[in-house]
Amino acid sequence: MREIKRALYPGSFNPIHNGHIDIALRALRVFDELVVGIYVHPGKPALLSAEERVELVQAVLGNDPKVQVATYNKLTVDYALEVGAYAIVRGLRVFSDFELEFRMALANRRLAPEIEIVNFIAAEEHLHISSSTIREVASLGGDVSSMAPPPVIEALHRRFEELKAQGSNSSFMVSLGD
Ligand code: ADP
Repeated sequence: MREIKRALYPGSFNPIHNGHIDIALRALRVFDELVVGIYVHPGKPALLSAEERVELVQAVLGNDPKVQVATYNKLTVDYALEVGAYAIVRGLRVFSDFELEFRMALANRRLAPEIEIVNFIAAEEHLHISSSTIREVASLGGDVSSMAPPPVIEALHRRFEELKAQGSNSSFMVSLGD
């Protein structure tokens, strides 16, 4: 029997958006299983908690039995080995992504040569989307419904209402950045 080809799609997913979803769905056409690994930086405040980010990824991709969602806070290659992934999937939007991804891929290959890094080129319609753009636009009351699915929009709305009730202003965007 053929070996199952599992890939890890790592990121902060704070929050998950249409660009991420597109890459995940395209990766599922290439790999048998995809683990969406939410990197949780210890001690670093994030707009959405690790649990909320997991719930949102589950809500938008979790219906597919080929998708698993989990958090991690170790080296991405070590996590890939731990979950039995033989490839790490990353998306490429703009040239600045390329430089960073290129360096990370070389470092990761040094650390774990058995893991392949596979980069998917972002769809043109998603090039402008990033989690930080979504957070910033949403924090100022802008419409982000073309950038992320409804459960994400609702979660952001709830979170900003919560922060407003606590008396935070939009400057928290800086301290809550990725
Ligand atoms: P973001 O940059 O939106 O905060 P992450 O740090 O969670 O996203 O990134 C996880 C992965 O998803 C990275 O490989 C990143 O390049 C990719 N990605 C992010 N935004 C997009 C997009 N709009 N289209 C395709 N891939 C993307």
